[in-house]
Amino acid sequence: MSTDETLQLDEAFESLCNQLADSTADLDRDDAWPSDQFQWLSDARVLGWLIPRHFGGSEVTAEHLTVGYERLAAACLVTAFVLTQRNGACQRIAASPNDELKSDLLADLCTSAMFATVGISHLTTSRQHLKKPSVQVRETDSGFVFDGFVPWVTGAKHADVIVTGGTLSDGRQLLAAVETSLAGVEVLAPAKLMALTSSQTGPVTLTDVQVPHSRVIAGPMEQVMKNAAGAGTGSVTTSALALGAAKSSIDHVRVEALQRPELNEIVQSLDTEYGSIRDDMYDSIREGASSNPRLSSESVRQRANSLVLRASQAHLATSKGAGFAKGHPAERAVREAMFFLVWSCPQPVLAAALREFACLAPEFQATLGENVGA
Ligand SMILES: Cc1cc2nc3c(=O)[nH]c(=O)nc-3n(C[C@H](O)[C@H](O)[C@H](O)COP(=O)(O)OP(=O)(O)OC[C@H]3O[C@@H](n4cnc5c(N)ncnc54)[C@H](O)[C@@H]3O)c2cc1C
Repeated sequence: MSTDETLQLDEAFESLCNQLADSTADLDRDDAWPSDQFQWLSDARVLGWLIPRHFGGSEVTAEHLTVGYERLAAACLVTAFVLTQRNGACQRIAASPNDELKSDLLADLCTSAMFATVGISHLTTSRQHLKKPSVQVRETDSGFVFDGFVPWVTGAKHADVIVTGGTLSDGRQLLAAVETSLAGVEVLAPAKLMALTSSQTGPVTLTDVQVPHSRVIAGPMEQVMKNAAGAGTGSVTTSALALGAAKSSIDHVRVEALQRPELNEIVQSLDTEYGSIRDDMYDSIREGASSNPRLSSESVRQRANSLVLRASQAHLATSKGAGFAKGHPAERAVREAMFFLVWSCPQPVLAAALREFACLAPEFQATLGENVGA
């Protein structure tokens, strides 16, 4: 059975996607924030997707979630992206053994009444070459004290809670739900980005922030991001967004091809590649990657990244000079595709992209397969 047969998202979801697509250009401004879009997601009950039923959520399957992310990303990448950061926070809170924390936060997180986000990259992909941990944690009788710099937090200015972590002097790490109202939490101005500036992503400083035991999600433990539940770096979610963005560009080329038959072979080739990566992504969700290295999250993400970059360039090239004008969907698609080179990108995926740019891709494909299978 194909993915689309197993998963019919309903008509209300389709009209949500149309609404998001119609407003996506308005979010391509420095001062914008997807607040209306989050209200629509709340109305469509999307915000409860990852929250357990007994807290009012719908606890959708991994396949449902992935199809949903793909469609949302095709409609409006920035809204889909902010949703993933929020859902990353919800997922980690929901997976915590801390019942008090879950009762306090999860019901409110089913709607747009509360906004949570993640600031965890300093434990995974950011600042890993630095000797000193970006956020240091020390234990007290009542909980933990956080000190340091969280470099990337999407929607920090709008957040009630930031799921973030730090490192104790013995190397163990802690993950906690830090309320932005706590003394010592300072949200700095969001960065002006090449694209997705309206995700309002920026740094947060933590100065002697007292986090009580009741706000601990996981730890202290070794490598909290690996050993506590929740989607990891470069997870299937990130590929779903890349494929959704690629699909949107391929569809634009398809529309051009209606008047220009010479473009049909281009659309066909991109479409075939898109279908094959997508099949692997869903097989990876159903079967895992143990039998086939092509199904590893790194392999899927690497190919999804490559496709979204090339599909967006095909979108621009077929739009010609008109597509180069600021505000045209093609120029936005090209800028947005670049995001996948830097967001939640594990080292093997980054290395594969660099080897592809240097035309060293075929050998690396083989190596990636062997490494991942090992
Ligand atoms: C739009 C956007 C939104 C994001 N949102 C979030 C979010 O909500 N939550 C979250 O947790 N993360 C988020 N991230 C972070 C993201 O997932 C990555 O962690 C981040 O892009 C890594 O980039 P960095 O510059 O911090 O990496 P770093 O590795 O810290 O690199 C910074 C610089 O250090 C130098 N450097 C890097 N590696 C080395 C080395 N080995 N030796 C010497 N020098 C080196 C380079 O000059 C590099 O430019 C977001 C990123 C973006 C772009």
